[in-house]
Amino acid sequence: MRTVLITGASSGIGAACAQVLATESNYRLLLCARRADRLTSLTNEIHSLHPNVDIHSFTLDVRDNAEVKRAIASLPTEWQNIDVLINNAGLSQGLDALQDGDTDDWDRMIDTNVKGLLYVSKTVIPLLKKSTRAHIINIGSIAGKEVYPNGNVYCATKHAVDALNKAMRIDLLPFGIKVTAINPGMVETEFSEVRFKGDKERAKNVYAGVVPLSGLDIAETIRYVLSLPAHVNINDLLIMPTAQA
Ligand code: NDP
Repeated sequence: MRTVLITGASSGIGAACAQVLATESNYRLLLCARRADRLTSLTNEIHSLHPNVDIHSFTLDVRDNAEVKRAIASLPTEWQNIDVLINNAGLSQGLDALQDGDTDDWDRMIDTNVKGLLYVSKTVIPLLKKSTRAHIINIGSIAGKEVYPNGNVYCATKHAVDALNKAMRIDLLPFGIKVTAINPGMVETEFSEVRFKGDKERAKNVYAGVVPLSGLDIAETIRYVLSLPAHVNINDLLIMPTAQA
């Protein structure tokens, strides 16, 4: 049985990971995000389909290092053995040329996508070191491999995730902890709506001419990555909608 901690589990890719891993009999799920109501309804939904899955959820803002430390330290004893960390919480805000960008948006992206991932990783790694099948999955992006018009700061944060994924792999090698980056192209989640601050029309237009990936597509990929034998690791995976340029 492996315990999986998923950040940003309240929607999109994170919620899909919980739904997919719940279909297997060998995972226990630790779910966190800021929206408690979403975590509760996800837990209820999973339990209605898979009553025996062990789930513990808690609210967490990954940008707050003190809160991250406190939340992990105060997990019930039976949830202190974490085997898998899925660093998924993240967002994009605004899609403007650098000179027109909103510096509050920049702070939000850097604080969540980069500093949040670092805070959670640093806090959870001591627990992962005790596991015999430890694995960190970092959700990067095609934006961590390329830069597109007006993507500037979001792309910079995902390039940082790309670098941190490589760095973690090197630093954690002596402890046998696997590290994998999953880098998706367009995935239809709340991501686009968050990016355009609730402008549904603009959010939908992003997918024009492309069948986007779903959260489940990414979650199924993660299920596969986690199923590989101990001596096999996928270090870095780019997964794109077939029609995305
Ligand atoms: P969603 O907006 O659907 O989900 C984002 C999740 O992150 C939510 O559960 C949200 O929960 C959580 N989150 C945001 N800020 C914080 C915070 N400060 N503390 C804790 N949790 C937070 O988008 P996706 O599922 O698409 O995004 C998941 C990841 O995938 C992100 O890292 C994103 O960059 C990446 N990605 C997405 C792509 C896409 O096209 N959708 C493409 C490539 C990568 P809550 O608001 O409740 O805190």
